[in-house]
Amino acid sequence: MTLMEAGTSVLQRLEAAGFEAFFVGGMVRDALLGREIHDVDITTSAMPVSVMGLFDNCVPTGIGHGTVTVLVGKVPIEVTTYRMDGEYRDFRRPESVSFTTSLEEDLRRRDFTINALAMDKNGQVFDPLMGSADLRGGLIRAVGNAGQRFFEDPLRMLRALRFVSKLGFELDNGCQQAIKDYGYLTANLARERVMKELEGLMDGKFKEKALGLMIQAGLLAHFPDLKPLARLDTKVLSTLKNSLDLFLAASFFSGGIKEYMAGWPLSKSQKRLIAKTHGYFLDGAPLLWVQYADGMETAAALWRMRVVFGKSDEAFIPQQLVISNRGELAMTASNMLSAAGISPGPNAKKLLEQVEWAVLSQKIKNSPAEILAFIGGQDVSAKT
Ligand code: ATP
Ligand code: MG
Repeated sequence: MTLMEAGTSVLQRLEAAGFEAFFVGGMVRDALLGREIHDVDITTSAMPVSVMGLFDNCVPTGIGHGTVTVLVGKVPIEVTTYRMDGEYRDFRRPESVSFTTSLEEDLRRRDFTINALAMDKNGQVFDPLMGSADLRGGLIRAVGNAGQRFFEDPLRMLRALRFVSKLGFELDNGCQQAIKDYGYLTANLARERVMKELEGLMDGKFKEKALGLMIQAGLLAHFPDLKPLARLDTKVLSTLKNSLDLFLAASFFSGGIKEYMAGWPLSKSQKRLIAKTHGYFLDGAPLLWVQYADGMETAAALWRMRVVFGKSDEAFIPQQLVISNRGELAMTASNMLSAAGISPGPNAKKLLEQVEWAVLSQKIKNSPAEILAFIGGQDVSAKT
């Protein structure tokens, strides 16, 4: 069953029970643009309890906001009761949510006109805010006054830029001005929410455009850790692959990498990648070594940092490695160390790495004879 079929079956069920129900939001926008649909949102006049009563398999995922996730087979469909948002106090979530019986009111609470389209089960579009015209014109326009809407929820500024990045659309003048006026409010947002939008922004096909607008409108300057990135050329900045790269690049402007990373909800493995790559960059480690010692992901990230900071203009070509770990050397570590006459310790580590590098970089063949000859010529062994 396709997403669309699953969604249509939910609309039919709600209508058969006497409720209004429409597809809404990003899904309608993407369907009208002929883009692939990745999730289905439904808006309905039915109250959450009625939705729960109509479907056997459903989860009250956001019942406080009127959202129930209906499972059609394994396909999750988000069904939300028509609502109007109350006051925004903490710049995060509306203070209160009130349900309404009017589809139009529900559409008016939405952020942008292109996200405020509803579509019935036959594909008929309900568009009181003229979102289709903006879709055709490639324009991101706030529903109502942009300044007011961004003041209510500053995340919308980042969402606007995420949609620029995804769709390649322009921001209308109202949005551009309102980002300049209210960008400072993004400092109040939970870092998790900001991070999620940055991830989406860096994933978009038009990220160069979005990053350019973000810098131009001064929005980047409101994130202390990321602010210095505005000094880089936008074209160069957009060679960064993802949001993690943004943090990695920003780490070179920061005094202490640890304190810097502490402010953001990065996973352990993400922090590790940043710290490792940061270290390799400062050491000037060869990409081949990094690929061997830490894997392709770190090597590719290191290469991107070199491009961004003007230290490389070559393409990164992953290499076929002669050995993929120390165990694949033609001699065991203990045999190499006794041949060199050194005991375990820093010098031993250094020697083993020198052998690994000689084999990896194909200075010598991976054979006992060549390794022994190589060890004989190393001064590290003479030191102990
Ligand atoms: P995507 O394709 O990235 O999922 P989307 O438009 O579906 O984009 P969602 O975050 O899934 O974005 O939100 C679904 C819909 O809910 C939006 O299209 C919009 O109508 C509404 N919406 C979401 N976040 C906000 C917000 N902060 N303010 C107002 N409306 C919002
Ligand atoms: Mg969505």
